[in-house]
This record gives sequence, C-alpha cells and structure tokens, in this order.
Amino acid sequence: MHLYPDYSLKAYNTFGLDAKASHFARLQKAEDLSPLLLHNYSPIFILGGGSNVLFVNNFEGLVIHNEIGGIAARQQLNGKVIVEAGGGVNWHQLVCWCLDHDLGGIENLSLIPGTAGAAPIQNIGAYGVELKDVFYELEAMDLETGKLHRFKKEDCDFAYRNSIFKQSLRGKVLITRILIELTSISHNINTSYGAIRDTLAEAGIKQPTIKDVSEAVIKIRTEKLPDPLKIGNAGSFFKNPEISQEQFEELRRRFPNIVHYPGSGGLIKVPAGWLIEQCGWKGYRSGAIGCYEKQALVLVNYGGGSGNEIWNLAQEIIASVEGKFGIQLNPEVNILG
Ligand SMILES: Cc1cc2nc3c(=O)[nH]c(=O)nc-3n(C[C@H](O)[C@H](O)[C@H](O)COP(=O)(O)OP(=O)(O)OC[C@H]3O[C@@H](n4cnc5c(N)ncnc54)[C@H](O)[C@@H]3O)c2cc1C
Repeated sequence: MHLYPDYSLKAYNTFGLDAKASHFARLQKAEDLSPLLLHNYSPIFILGGGSNVLFVNNFEGLVIHNEIGGIAARQQLNGKVIVEAGGGVNWHQLVCWCLDHDLGGIENLSLIPGTAGAAPIQNIGAYGVELKDVFYELEAMDLETGKLHRFKKEDCDFAYRNSIFKQSLRGKVLITRILIELTSISHNINTSYGAIRDTLAEAGIKQPTIKDVSEAVIKIRTEKLPDPLKIGNAGSFFKNPEISQEQFEELRRRFPNIVHYPGSGGLIKVPAGWLIEQCGWKGYRSGAIGCYEKQALVLVNYGGGSGNEIWNLAQEIIASVEGKFGIQLNPEVNILG
C-alpha cells in the first residue's frame, strides 16, 4: 500500500484545518492492514470522515484513512434484515441505501456526517435513536496483533456518546465492518422528538413512512446545523453534562429557568448548548473561529482558523461554564495533539 509523507489533512476533517500527517495511507481492503502494521508506525490514528476530530497540531505518526466499502443485506428468520457495511462507507449513504430498500431503524440518524465504521465509537445518536438500538455486530482488527475480532452488542459497552472503543479500546482497533438489524415490515416509526412531529404536521403528514421521517430529520438538521462544506465544524463540540439531583436543585434555586431532562441512573442532563449560551458565547467570533450563531454547542472555523485557536476557545468556554454553574463540560470531539 502506498504511504504518503507529510500529507495535508485539510480535505479530511470537517473543521477544514490544514494539519499535516507525517504519514498517510488509504485502506480499501481489511487484508491490507496487516502488512501496514509490520512497519511498526507509532502512533497510528484511524480516520473516517474526520467529522468528530480536532487536530490541534500536526499529527506526527501514521494516519490510516478507512475507505473499506460495500453494503449487503441478508434476511433473518424473524422477519428482520441484517445489513452489513464496510467501515469506510459514508453513514448517510448507508441510511439512503436502507431507505431505498425499505429497511427501517436508522432513518432518525439521517445526515449524520462520517463513516459506518466510526458510528459505534461514540454510539451516534439523534432524535431519539442511537446506533445501539439497531446494532447487531462488528468486526475490528487489533492494531497490535493484526487479528480480526467480532464484537456483539454486549461487548461494546454502549452508552450516551460512548462505547468501549472510546474507553479501554481507544486507538487500539480498526473497525472494518458493522452489521445492523433493521425492520423490513412493521417499521417502528419514532417521532418522539417534538421537532419531528411538528415538521411532519406542517407537511400535512399524518401517517409517516420511514422516508417521511428521514426527510423531516434532514429538514430540521439543515436549518439548525452549519454545513461543514460551507462552515468548518464538528457538530456538537461538548457532551451534555449529567449532574446529581442535589446539584440540580441547588442550581434551580439560582437559575429557575434551567433547561433539563432525565439523565442516566437518576442523574439530570443539562443541555451544554444552554449552559454555553447563558455564558454569552452564542454567536461569538474571534477572527476566523467562533461559536455558531444558531447553536452555541457548535464551534466553527469560518476559514483559515487553526486547531489551536479552536481548542483555546473551547477551554475558555469550559472555564466560564465551570465558573458560572460549577459544571464541568467535556468535549464530545476527539482532541488530537
Ligand atoms: C454537522 C455535524 C453534525 C453532527 N451530528 C451528530 C449527531 O447528530 N449525532 C452524533 O452522534 N454525532 C454527530 N456528529 C459527529 C460525527 O458525525 C460522528 O461522531 C461520526 O460518527 C464521526 O464519524 P467519522 O467517520 O467522521 O469519524 P472521525 O471523525 O474520522 O473519527 C472519530 C473517532 O473515531 C475513530 N474512528 C473512526 N473510524 C474508525 C474505525 N473504522 N475504527 C476505529 N476507530 C475509528 C477515530 O480514530 C476518532 O477517534 C456530527 C458532526 C458534524 C460535523
């Protein structure tokens, strides 16, 4: 496989940052990975669509761009269908393929940027659905031994924007393909999110199909989030923090309008976007970088900004939210360098 030295990653990250990798390789077949590992490059970074990474500096190591393609489906005995996708398949193209074959389950995850192989890493989620809801199995290669392993759902420790691949297996495996289990009949239409219900109602749709739900999601997302092809960004920069009931009650005394939802294990989830907005950051701009005017959770590069500038802004935001609310924000985006 060809190795490119000193390679610009500008076209490979949705922030549009001009970071360089000291070595870069394209992986189109899983079999090509083992010979590459014999070179003992270190560190190695697996890159999909680059929609959830911030390159603060150049990357001194090997970046492997996952381009493993292919989508196939097989019928199950229970009337469901297993769809298998190569790790490098574009996620939204996979959603469209499933809709074209009338397979339901991932329509609420329409238009999420990135690759199928990265979807399990943070258990992608949107509009009431997470990858774990349809996940069947994945295959991943151990970057040390070159061996292929299968992971069932129970092996993945899926949680809110989290999995074993962000924890103990972080940077240790390359996901070569994923398998998801979808419905071919009796689709479970999920319109639990008010915005989806409102959009469908506006269009006069009373009995939505999976395609209708996908179109509603695409409409909402296009109106709310910046298109990375126009304004560099990586979607939500921070995770929504979860706090104890006690801390929440104390905060509610000081901020009666605090927005909140039930979190995991009895905790209370507070939207990071609301916290950031309350600290006055929404629409903030300094030179080429800033905080998106329509959604404070999204940090943006208007063009020509550096990873370092974005990371510095993120630190300032973390400090001001901590100072005002005593809540620690954690990045959802993978920070490199
Ligand atoms: C406009 C916008 C909107 C977004 N909306 C959402 C949303 O609604 N919900 C949501 O969950 N996310 C959202 N995201 C974040 C992002 O799209 C997802 O996290 C996506 O899964 C990242 O895929 P990627 O291929 O771009 O991963 P990358 O950014 O390339 O990589 C992310 C991490 O995964 C690792 N990785 C990637 N591929 C593999 C692989 N094959 N094997 C092992 N490790 C791998 C990388 O090393 C890195 O640590 C959004 C991003 C943008 C820009």
